[in-house]
Amino acid sequence: MAKLTIDPKLVQAKELNVELLKQLQVFQAHPITQKYWALGGASGWLGTNTTTIRTCPDGVGQYQHFVNGSIYYHPSIGAHEVHGLIRARWQSMGWERSLLGYPLTDESSCPDGIGRFNHFQGGSIYWSPSSGAWEVHGAIRAKYSSFGWERSFLRYPLTNETTCPDGVGRFNHFQGGSIYWSPSTGAHEVHGAIRSHWASLGWERSALGYPTSDELVVFGGAARISHFQHGSIYWSPTAGVRVLRERVRVHVKILETPVSFTINEQFAAMQEVYAVAGVRVDCASTENLNLPTLKDVDVGGCTMGSVSSEQIILFGNRNFVGTNDVVVYFVRSTVPGYNGCAAHPSGRPGCVVVRSASRWTLGHEFGHVLGIHHVNDNNRLMTGNGTFNITNPPPDLTSSESSTMRNSSLTTPL
Ligand SMILES: [Zn+2]
Repeated sequence: MAKLTIDPKLVQAKELNVELLKQLQVFQAHPITQKYWALGGASGWLGTNTTTIRTCPDGVGQYQHFVNGSIYYHPSIGAHEVHGLIRARWQSMGWERSLLGYPLTDESSCPDGIGRFNHFQGGSIYWSPSSGAWEVHGAIRAKYSSFGWERSFLRYPLTNETTCPDGVGRFNHFQGGSIYWSPSTGAHEVHGAIRSHWASLGWERSALGYPTSDELVVFGGAARISHFQHGSIYWSPTAGVRVLRERVRVHVKILETPVSFTINEQFAAMQEVYAVAGVRVDCASTENLNLPTLKDVDVGGCTMGSVSSEQIILFGNRNFVGTNDVVVYFVRSTVPGYNGCAAHPSGRPGCVVVRSASRWTLGHEFGHVLGIHHVNDNNRLMTGNGTFNITNPPPDLTSSESSTMRNSSLTTPL
């Protein structure tokens, strides 16, 4: 409660007793009445009261209804107004006894200047002219807030929080996407072409299950990916939408930094081609190797099953590398000179890529490691004429090449 301070001049001036009485009245008024007066009283937009001040059904707070809204009071929060479609939504949920509890704010303008909201103890109700009024709460609301509420790509909610058809998780749809939550995965957004494809597969009841990430940028490029419990959905402007159910784990060992294309660009290109085969490319670790005598590595004839003593030493560098993981060694050059070489010692799958390699060399060499071979066709990843000669980026993989890659022991199910 505010402290009452009485101007001594008022007390002394008998003719001002009327003003003093008015101040006393404000001080003694119920917080609901004070809020009502602050909003203009009977001549304000709330209009005249339609009830007296009453105790709420939960026995804790009090309320009063007016022609155009209500004021709710909770002893530890204070009094706030709710009105219009936000009030109607709150009412439909059960007023203060709903999961939302008591209002923490009056109805307020959204920062985007279009919609309106009330925050409540247990969540929020957002309204806009094009979306209507819907509640968000819990982990989904926290995720929505983390993106920046209605000013994010999600814009306004289009549903209340709703139980998923599988009976396990929860979701809100928004104008720009959805947020899905489950006990084991937490809350993540899904939107755009990836969301549309997931929806076409059957949402959380599809083989992919719930999202385990927000939409992510793929190796710093134009492509996007969302991870799910049992796979990923990839999208790029040129490859479109692809479901990835297998993955290859790649460890990067840098002897010499590439100069023609960055490591990220080479990975982004590899992922785009491998997405066609349904294979996700994970960069599992990156390590700089100080091995000056191996920067120009002798690869002999670069023949599978036949390696030089330098290759044996180089491929012995396997920090962090697990079973079924593969390694790329970025070197200055090979002797004799190639873009890269996929010959590797038995049981140490990997390849070398030189600093002047093409955008597609990394994917091409790992193609060899996964068991696919040269073809005489510059439209394809496995062209034997040099990947600088590829004519239709991204280069093709045939369905038989794709299935060989998926069946390799070096690609594992997600
Ligand atoms: Zn080759």
